Amino acid sequence: MNQPSNKTVCVLGSLNMDLVMRLPRVPDAGETLIGHQFNTYGGGKGANQAMACAKLGGQAAMMGRVGDDDFGRALHGALQEAGVDTQELKLLKTVETGVAMIMVDDAAQNRIVLAQGANLHILPADIDQRADLIGEARLLICQLEIPLETNRRAIALAHTRGVPVLLNPAPAASLPADMLAQVSYLVPNETEASLLTGTTVSDLASAAVAARQLRAMGCRHVLITLGAQGVLIADDKGIRHWPALQVKAVDTTAAGDTFIGGLATGLAEGLTLDEATQLGMCAAAVSVTRPGAQPALPYRQELAPYPHQATWLEQTP
Ligand code: ADP
Repeated sequence: MNQPSNKTVCVLGSLNMDLVMRLPRVPDAGETLIGHQFNTYGGGKGANQAMACAKLGGQAAMMGRVGDDDFGRALHGALQEAGVDTQELKLLKTVETGVAMIMVDDAAQNRIVLAQGANLHILPADIDQRADLIGEARLLICQLEIPLETNRRAIALAHTRGVPVLLNPAPAASLPADMLAQVSYLVPNETEASLLTGTTVSDLASAAVAARQLRAMGCRHVLITLGAQGVLIADDKGIRHWPALQVKAVDTTAAGDTFIGGLATGLAEGLTLDEATQLGMCAAAVSVTRPGAQPALPYRQELAPYPHQATWLEQTP
């Protein structure tokens, strides 16, 4: 079969500056504490996924909004430097760039507050104006940190034009049935799969139950990420489990985004779903060994070969 020549992965989604404070414990109301360390990292699920794709050798285009401020310019510059097409990443004069304030205590517990800012200002009309970018892409990726109606319009447009849609339903939310039915690749983690199905995903057996439910909702390929346990895939061929690479994890921020960047890069190159999944897992394994979101994303040449075989839970005859 001839593959279309355009290999662009179009990523519609959020960009945030992550302000990360490491501190012994969370302060009480009215209390001032001395923290251990403060860092700013580029983040936002959309930006992370686009950058992961570009650093792994894929062609990525980012559709999103930041403020025309220091954070926005830094996020824009970082994506450009990584080789992401930023023609549809607009800097808006009247709103602030999205910010995530993250406190990490000595027990490695996160507390996160998000100001969505400019991420709320990418609207369905913006999708209509750049229908070309989506219609000509090899794959459209969406997540849930921008207005739902914008995602809905983009997914419907891609579906009409025959462009496969990869939806990362994060942060966890329930979704309209018509939207799910237009998704080719649904990539939730355990929490998101649990919320979408009502089945508590805690191991391979419960993940398989949830994956069957999600397939019944119309998603053709379901990939549930299971943290250090790897990935469960359900599609027409059956249900199988690919184990994760064993590494010493120091910070799992953006593990899912890195996995998705690798998966999408592989799919756009014409790899099979299982091969693209392996690429995603190899990339995610490197990212968890480094701190932060975007600085942790690996280049293709840093990846080790994938060493495992899949275990089939169910195989279509
Ligand atoms: P999310 O970040 O969206 O919650 P997961 O935690 O499920 O996503 O991680 C996504 C993928 O990253 C996993 O499927 C796995 O391949 C890889 N990964 C995550 N944590 C680890 C880990 N501790 N060791 C190795 N790989 C990991």
